[in-house]
Amino acid sequence: MNDQRSNDHRKLGRELGLFDTDPLIGAGLPYWLPDGAVIRHELEEYVRDLERRSGYRHVYSPVLGKRELYERSGHWAHYREDMFPPMRLGAEEVVLRPSLCPHHAVMYRSRARSYRELPLRLAELGGMYRSELSGVLGGLTRVRAIQLNDGHVFCTLDQVAEEAARALALIREAHRVLGIEPVRYRLSLPGAGGKYVAAPELWERSAKLLTEVLDGSGLPYEAQEGEAAFYGPKIDVQIADGAGREATLSTVQVDFHQPEQFELEYIGADGARHRPVMVHRAIIGSVERAVAHLIELYGGAFPAWLAPVQVALLPLSAGEDAAVAELADRCLELGLRAQVLGPEQGTLGARVRAARLVPYQVVVGAREAAQGLVAPRLRDGSRPAPLPVADFLARVAAGVAAREREPRLDG
Ligand SMILES: [Zn+2]
Repeated sequence: MNDQRSNDHRKLGRELGLFDTDPLIGAGLPYWLPDGAVIRHELEEYVRDLERRSGYRHVYSPVLGKRELYERSGHWAHYREDMFPPMRLGAEEVVLRPSLCPHHAVMYRSRARSYRELPLRLAELGGMYRSELSGVLGGLTRVRAIQLNDGHVFCTLDQVAEEAARALALIREAHRVLGIEPVRYRLSLPGAGGKYVAAPELWERSAKLLTEVLDGSGLPYEAQEGEAAFYGPKIDVQIADGAGREATLSTVQVDFHQPEQFELEYIGADGARHRPVMVHRAIIGSVERAVAHLIELYGGAFPAWLAPVQVALLPLSAGEDAAVAELADRCLELGLRAQVLGPEQGTLGARVRAARLVPYQVVVGAREAAQGLVAPRLRDGSRPAPLPVADFLARVAAGVAAREREPRLDG
């Protein structure tokens, strides 16, 4: 693994052509270039796939809402400094949303719900906005437009502990696949000051549930006051950058407040109306912060499934052009991202250096072209024996599909 300290994601993001910002668009509003968009797309697809397999249904909701929506949720009273000012539209005021929860709560109550539907797990990779001051903005870690990997589980009180534990397990599974090692699990509790909704017995109940989940997980954790959401305590999974600066990547929260505010209900087995609980969770948190962390973690040498270019094709001479073009087509058919680096781009040594971050580098000479073989090189400098094109492609495709962290060819 690379030295994370020397891998500032802002510098690498520019050098590798992943993302950038422009003063004309504005501070804290990065755009994603094609290679960065590949990483983001693969990451988002991975998360959606993981969520689907864990019983989540995906939804879409608008990034704007009427001011009244956030008055109801409590954001207006407790979170307004972080929100963009409202926009006046005729007699109404609309705001860019500071979170997705209110929309999902409204979707829950769009029709009557039975206990048989619970737990109802809704997920969305959606935009949210934060009016950070321009002085603190930078790269992908402090932004004003955030793509959040959000999800809300609507469940009965009896189901909360299990749902929160499942969410924590999902977070750990994603971190394992992505190679992310958290620096700390934190039980984030309210602190002194007035930014929290008042309901002491509900705070106590939520904190107790989350404590049980953490104790049951066997993970070491620290409780910290002053870090809770305004509506409830959280489990925060902390990561650190190369300079040791900590940030929350993933989170699990128990919320009794918003179900109350939106008067959410379900009909129980007893035929009576009951109030569900909301478990909020983000597996990789914001896509921006997750990608920033992955850039620094891998120094641009991404796992093959995330890599913007997976296979670099290096013909020794123009005589191999046809063989290499055919190889590029076969990669494309398999959904692999290949790039040809021909002799016009320099010596073989120079081209191998240019492709040093690409997981699979393939040198094709006259002998390989004639025999239908490829001579692969891996990023670690190893050079497995030449193998038939079909075998090589099948192994690369299998490694990518399995989201293996390090490229291999012996599978
Ligand atoms: Zn939420």
